[in-house]
Amino acid sequence: MRAIRYHGPKQPLRLETLPKPAPGPGEVVVRVTAAGICHTELHFLSGLLNLGVHPVTLGHEVVGVVEEQGAGVATVKAGDRVILYYYVGCGRCPHCLVGEENLCDALQAEYGFVSDGGFAEYARVPARNAVLLPEGVSDEAAAPIGCGVTTAVHASALAHLAAGDVVLVYGVGAVGFGLIQLAKLSGAEVIAVSRTPAKLQKARALGAAHVLNHKEGSVAERVKEITHGHGADVVFELVATRETMGASTAALAKRGRLVFIGYSEDSYSVHPIQLVITEASVTGSVGNTLDELIRAVDLVARGRIQTVVDRVLPLGEFQKGIDALAAGQLIGRAVLRP
Ligand SMILES: [Zn+2]
Ligand SMILES: [Zn+2]
Repeated sequence: MRAIRYHGPKQPLRLETLPKPAPGPGEVVVRVTAAGICHTELHFLSGLLNLGVHPVTLGHEVVGVVEEQGAGVATVKAGDRVILYYYVGCGRCPHCLVGEENLCDALQAEYGFVSDGGFAEYARVPARNAVLLPEGVSDEAAAPIGCGVTTAVHASALAHLAAGDVVLVYGVGAVGFGLIQLAKLSGAEVIAVSRTPAKLQKARALGAAHVLNHKEGSVAERVKEITHGHGADVVFELVATRETMGASTAALAKRGRLVFIGYSEDSYSVHPIQLVITEASVTGSVGNTLDELIRAVDLVARGRIQTVVDRVLPLGEFQKGIDALAAGQLIGRAVLRP
């Protein structure tokens, strides 16, 4: 089968031929029909995220059709359309015991990170990682659920969104679009920030009440203006450069919650007095639980959340998708069709 392989930081991704996987007991082999390219791919390529495992097949937003099942598989069968959950926890650590496999102390697999993912014609996963996709959601539209929407669902839960909150979404890619819609569903008022007018237009169409161009003056000051001095109860940081982190922190309301989802090469620096006198809090958000993937699929299937797909490319044209993402040209995801 053909697969896109990662060979370490600063090395180009390569389309290679690998043996087709066979399912072991409890596993399924899925014929991949759509796989989204996430910003994390760029962090792998630059070396900012270095998990030390390569070569490995990238791709953690994966949709496909179950082709083969191993012994003892009862939850899905050949022909079922599924989306993959990309973590396999140990099942025994304190985090796994409450379903938080994204924080597992001894991960068994993480597809598209340290285990072979979905930028390939086939992927092999435990049957419990293959979540049924309802009719009515196309493969391409479903792919960005796997990380984009699920990451948004997880981060929203950590932020304890409440009706009436002012929510600042700093950076509008696939996760940002999910966050705008989830915040809106929670009854929050959303302010979206980007440097790209077309992304801001889409942000508005998805429910952002205010959109700010990062390049047009102080974001924090404009947030204070819009909110009559109150500030943002929640800020989701998806860019996290020195400049945006300064603005994100300054935009926080009293008891505001700053949630880091994205990161860059820059470190976060804040004088404690800024947090002390506002009782603001800062947290990080990583990945999602299996339950959150199931909820994300349901939200999209019921039309409560839309995914945003900019373009669909054949597997062999992955580099075009990577380049467009790096250049900031994509409104939502580029999705590969193996
Ligand atoms: Zn991702
Ligand atoms: Zn665990």
